[in-house]
Amino acid sequence: METMKEQINKIFKERFGKNGTLYASAGRINLIGEHTDYNDGFVFPGAIDKVIMAELAENGTDKVRVFSIDIDEYAEFGLREEDAPTQGWARYIFGICREIQKRGGTVKGFDAVFAGNVPLGAGLSSSAALESCFAFALNDMFNNNAIDKFELARIGQSTEHNYCGVNCGIMDQFASVFGRKDHLMRLDCRSMEYEYFPFDPKGYKLVLVDSRVKHELKDSPYNRRRESCERVAKELGVKSLRDADMAMLDAAKDRISEEDYKRARYVIGEKQRVLDVCDALNAGDYKKVGEKMYETHEGLSKDYEVSCEELDFLNDVAKEMGVTGSRIMGGGFGGCTINLVSDDLHDRFITEAVVRFKEKYGHEPQIYDVIISDGARKVEE
Ligand code: ADP
Ligand code: MG
Repeated sequence: METMKEQINKIFKERFGKNGTLYASAGRINLIGEHTDYNDGFVFPGAIDKVIMAELAENGTDKVRVFSIDIDEYAEFGLREEDAPTQGWARYIFGICREIQKRGGTVKGFDAVFAGNVPLGAGLSSSAALESCFAFALNDMFNNNAIDKFELARIGQSTEHNYCGVNCGIMDQFASVFGRKDHLMRLDCRSMEYEYFPFDPKGYKLVLVDSRVKHELKDSPYNRRRESCERVAKELGVKSLRDADMAMLDAAKDRISEEDYKRARYVIGEKQRVLDVCDALNAGDYKKVGEKMYETHEGLSKDYEVSCEELDFLNDVAKEMGVTGSRIMGGGFGGCTINLVSDDLHDRFITEAVVRFKEKYGHEPQIYDVIISDGARKVEE
């Protein structure tokens, strides 16, 4: 089978009659640290072995000409604000160009062909992979890599905000840009400091089970969760729940609603769980990592109440089978569970999860094995 790289090379040559330079970036998982970003807490992502790969070459014009292999569409656009393309996928690339220019960076006309294998809309952030691939490439081609990596992540985030209508945080782009093979990263969402931790789970695999359900909720539950957190922080006299601990929360129990109490208990617990996972990883204790993942699921389901029947079911199946760790990944109300599965259980777990889920809900979940890998980079020929 033709590799992605060979396919891109071939199509680039056919379309543009020359060779360019290859770049790639990756999708991401978040091992633990959910609903913590807006509480100034920690997230714990890593880049995965699912990538967007692009070949680029300067073309001497003031136009970008780009072909998407997977969507089988071509787009051509200028580099001024009024030149925005209409195709959704091209707007990510246009946005990256514009955000680099807005920061005083250089972007000249270029030709590009790209493809990827990050599943779209499955919670692995294919959009961040696309953004950081092009941000990294344009930084390398036109800016001597003068834009620092954090700014590359911000360029991706601003692209989502300003050109794609997605009001996202920084985690996805951060993970995609900074990802490093066999390492996860603890990002402090307050100070933006980050630290790498070794993640090389010998004898285990990371498996995502995508329920392929997304419950549309009318009453904006995410905003209500945020409001709960803000109310409790205010009551405790702290800037955000990052600054609170369980003793403070318990001391204020009479002054807050039962619901707000539960929300805050989850967030405060989650902060500690991330720190516990860091210690466990430093000690190579993957059983402990798995325990914390189950605790997070429990908290998201019972206290934060952002789970749903399908995700709780997948979590139960994992637990019954003795899977080491399992939890909802992402905001909740659908999407994936992330599972830390021992090698000997791996195949049986997948079969059982698929069969039992289908029996109950009528469709098969999608399975993705992931390996923690490098983020944005130049691909050596
Ligand atoms: P995700 O959760 O995967 O980031 P989004 O809806 O944020 O989902 O981003 C998906 C969008 O990113 C797609 O609709 C498309 O515009 C773009 N995209 C992602 N991967 C590719 C790809 N391989 N080829 C073309 N466009 C892609
Ligand atoms: Mg996205």
